[in-house]
Amino acid sequence: MLQIGLTGGIGAGKSTASRRLVELGATLIDADLIAREVVAKGTPGLARIAEAFGPEVIGADGEMDRARVASIVFSDDAKLAQLNGITHPLIGRRTAELVAEAGPEAVLVYDAALMVEQGSQARFALVAVVDTAEDVRVRRLVESRGLTEADARARITKQATDAQRRAAADVLLPNDGTPEELVARVDRLWAERLVPFEENVRLRRAVRGGAPVVVDPDPGWAARGERLAARVAYAAGSVGRGVAHIGSTAVPGLPAKDVTDLQLAVRSLDEVDALVEPLAAVGMIEIPEIVQDDPQAADPDPARWRKRYFGGADPGQRVHLHIRVHGAPGWRYALLVRDWLRADSAACAEYLQVKRAAAEESGGDPDAARYVGRKEPWFDAALPRAEAWAASTGWRPE
Ligand code: ADP
Repeated sequence: MLQIGLTGGIGAGKSTASRRLVELGATLIDADLIAREVVAKGTPGLARIAEAFGPEVIGADGEMDRARVASIVFSDDAKLAQLNGITHPLIGRRTAELVAEAGPEAVLVYDAALMVEQGSQARFALVAVVDTAEDVRVRRLVESRGLTEADARARITKQATDAQRRAAADVLLPNDGTPEELVARVDRLWAERLVPFEENVRLRRAVRGGAPVVVDPDPGWAARGERLAARVAYAAGSVGRGVAHIGSTAVPGLPAKDVTDLQLAVRSLDEVDALVEPLAAVGMIEIPEIVQDDPQAADPDPARWRKRYFGGADPGQRVHLHIRVHGAPGWRYALLVRDWLRADSAACAEYLQVKRAAAEESGGDPDAARYVGRKEPWFDAALPRAEAWAASTGWRPE
């Protein structure tokens, strides 16, 4: 099972994209629709609302009088909480039913118009955003929904901005062209990414292998790191003691392998057992054979360098998740090296040369062991310099 979020500004083409995903085999979870269903005419939900707020909230046609309910709860927080106390559990139960019915191989698409406004993006394994220029959206809303231009623009202004939605997107689905072009993009997303991603999660398979290729730095790496870190933090819940983007893609301007390295801090590695399922739900799968960082030569207690290691299951973006004990030397080291490289451009340039040589030498090495092995001596020699920098600047981890 895979749970993804789909959003887009009003008129962007979200419904068009979600219809296509359903044709391809996805299960649509439409929050608005469910919220209406659980209080539809004749439902126990509606009866309970009438009990709480009086029979006049049901109109002559047997439907809920939405305007009346809205006016009752509008300026009364206690009443609003009472209403939510009735509807939220019903919505939760109905959603759980739909998820259960969809079965273990389902790709669930949460149609969430206000995902970014509500800040719910981190709970999904992937977020797709239908992205359409504002003027195009206005034109389509005027033509297809009979809105005036002023009305369309007013609604757009009330929503999150395009930039905010783009920052939440793992996948952008531009829709300035024809509907056929959007459908073709959705088809590619489904076949090349969602289907293999779902299978990887279900079979507990992280994406691995591939020769280490060092590419030019991408200005989007920082935002991608934040997005993925938020997902890990959501999955870790109260077990997590902070998630950081580490590694080369966290150093602006440094060419690197196109991989997001993340570090999740925990109190104890045993606690991670409870995170295996929640992390799988956001697309991170444990690779149990990797359990140890290379301790710095001088450390008398190599066990302090233990970690648990997860890899992303999304074939569209590589993620390495290192889970380490908060305060342990390996945890501190990852943050120290990142911050030192961020601060020292000469060290960065040196490291880049070593990486390039390592990538070249390791050629087609699929598990990159030789690549990593080739970089280690440089790090061993660099550590005293990083420590000297930390001492002189008063650096602290986090
Ligand atoms: P949303 O659900 O994001 O508000 P819709 O999918 O309902 O947007 O699209 C808004 C309107 O624009 C609909 O009438 C839809 O048929 C139309 N539409 C969507 N994509 C295109 C496109 N590429 N070209 C022309 N019209 C489109």
